[in-house]
Amino acid sequence: MNVYQTIIDAAQAVTPEMVSVRRDFHKYAETGWLEMRTASIIARKLKDLGYEVLIGEDVCERDARMGVPSDEVLKAAYERAVSQGADPEFVKATEGGFTGVIGILRCGEGPTVGMRFDIDALGVNESTDEDHLPARDGYASVNAGSMHACGHDGHAASGLGVAAVLMQIKEHLHGTVKLIFQPGEEGLRGAKSIVEKGHLDDVDYLFGAHTTGEAADGGDVTPGSYGSLASYKYDVTFRGLAAHAGGSPHLGKNALLAAAAAVTNLYAIPRHGAGASRINVGRLIAGSGRNVIADEAFMEMEVRGDTTEINEYVSDYAKRVLESAAAMHDCTVEIKLMGAAQSLNSDEDFCEHIAAVCTEKLGMKVTEKLAIKLGGSEDVSYMLNRVQSHGGKGAFVRVRSKMTESAHKRKFDFDESYLTKVVKVFCGMTYDLMKK
Ligand SMILES: [Zn+2]
Repeated sequence: MNVYQTIIDAAQAVTPEMVSVRRDFHKYAETGWLEMRTASIIARKLKDLGYEVLIGEDVCERDARMGVPSDEVLKAAYERAVSQGADPEFVKATEGGFTGVIGILRCGEGPTVGMRFDIDALGVNESTDEDHLPARDGYASVNAGSMHACGHDGHAASGLGVAAVLMQIKEHLHGTVKLIFQPGEEGLRGAKSIVEKGHLDDVDYLFGAHTTGEAADGGDVTPGSYGSLASYKYDVTFRGLAAHAGGSPHLGKNALLAAAAAVTNLYAIPRHGAGASRINVGRLIAGSGRNVIADEAFMEMEVRGDTTEINEYVSDYAKRVLESAAAMHDCTVEIKLMGAAQSLNSDEDFCEHIAAVCTEKLGMKVTEKLAIKLGGSEDVSYMLNRVQSHGGKGAFVRVRSKMTESAHKRKFDFDESYLTKVVKVFCGMTYDLMKK
């Protein structure tokens, strides 16, 4: 029996269901830590398929979650999720922003193969123009300010397709399958909490995938990615003391001045000789009025580096600048970590393995370059680094399909053939690794 052919046929057969799930997730888009409806439906479908399901605090370490919205926002999102048809059994576990889900399939002795699918939307208002397919066909986001503008609706749906197909070929698998549905990828907020819960400690092979536009050479799959920037996101609050700007400025402690001194010096951090770095203060709010010494200043900033080490260098320097600027003006400063990613590298031999399975067993075309550079940051890096740290292997796969425009834009859309391709690659590789 040719199990690869079974996978190819099953991937086709499961496509209509994936398309409908993808459109449903698209319509009810939920941003990081608010994916309560999405997570509950994923858990329901995994359970119905026969998977062992983990959800809620069993998936994400409470204190390792970064950039969790306020209690008020979490509460409103929960009510919205329930009113929009969340699964009544599973949604309870997501309350308070615990929106990770893991599906486990145990097939006796053998390696543990992990797959990561991110499920969150972006803070974008979706286009309502007729030339935008989701708007024309009635599945544009009904949640204002939330849109799947990066394809994570497709990532989540493809994960459920993978789950369905692996269940069909279960008798041919030896080892354990772990399907990890990760919240809060945008802003690099979610992966770390799953890693810290220990879910990657026993994973021998890990892959994740991202929607990527068509390749110039017409390839379906680029097996790996490298060079994603390591990054930290910080919220910074300077606190001083208000005073009358005319009568007693000497009694005030000027938080605005501390923040301003910090900003100019942050951009003055020397470059690192070993590679590229970035720093940005994207938002700065301070003070309460013209004639008052500002008692508070708030900034949103980020640092990035080619490697984890360069990122640490910029981050340590930045913290010193922030603390010194505060001290200079007798203010205090609070630095809160809101998101983080490490640098990422796919294992070369693992990429070659994926390429071989795709071309020889699945009839897919692999791009000439087996790995491409990631311009931004991706927090799957936390998972990949954990797996690689204990000798496991992994890759962040780029699955190619046509896109209407680049990610994070209001008319972003991808060709749904993406879904079928992911199921083929992931199930083909899982079988190859677990067939004995
Ligand atoms: Zn994305």
